[in-house]
Amino acid sequence: MNKKPEIIAIDGPAASGKSTLGRRLADALGYLFFDTGVMYRAVTWLALHRGLNLADEAAVTALAEQTAIDVRPPSRDDGRMYDIWVDDRDITWEIRKPEVDRNVSLVASYGGVRRALSAQQRRIGMRGRVVMVGRDIGTVVLPEADLKIYLDASAEERARRRYEEILSRGGEADYDQILAAVRRRDEIDSTRDVAPLRPAADAVIVNSDGMDATQVFQRALALCVQPEEKPNGVA
Ligand code: C5P
Repeated sequence: MNKKPEIIAIDGPAASGKSTLGRRLADALGYLFFDTGVMYRAVTWLALHRGLNLADEAAVTALAEQTAIDVRPPSRDDGRMYDIWVDDRDITWEIRKPEVDRNVSLVASYGGVRRALSAQQRRIGMRGRVVMVGRDIGTVVLPEADLKIYLDASAEERARRRYEEILSRGGEADYDQILAAVRRRDEIDSTRDVAPLRPAADAVIVNSDGMDATQVFQRALALCVQPEEKPNGVA
């Protein structure tokens, strides 16, 4: 008889729909949803807010080691999946600003920052009944995850989704700029020395081009029920 996976890792490039999928899967299974990108974003936001030189790896690393990032249930009905608090301040939307988008991959490339944040992520993940989303969850943070999904999509499709998401929240966006930013982030995330973005050897690769969020969710849910599917095959 199949047992449902206790630890689920979802990795993939920027704006591939990992958070949407992770949230739906966690809700369906009654698991905790944990989006690790918010931690890198929170450190980046705080470094910018404090006027740190982001090229100063030692200063940014010290900040990551000292900062308590609080992820709480959503306090408002404004489209947020959770609250992110740092230093007694709700920064849930601040961490989504283009300035953070532009700088987060540099901050996430620092080994000391990754060590500090992955240790916290691992502690939470090892409790089980969790869907953890990021870039290196299946490869580094939770290599023992029972199910690893690598969610991919073309850069154009991902940029289009991000563009529509911003417009739907009433914001202004430029598609070409978003596409360039997505490509830049992919490049830095997949070529960095520490924990680069890549599928784990035993990950199931799901390419979501041409699929809507519900189709992706159903595909992933099926993987929870049929974990015997061949690893690292295009699903
Ligand atoms: O997933 P999201 O786009 O919010 O992540 C923001 C950035 O944080 C990524 O572009 C990547 O540089 C970094 N990140 C990471 N490892 C993770 C999660 C996010 O390096 N596990």
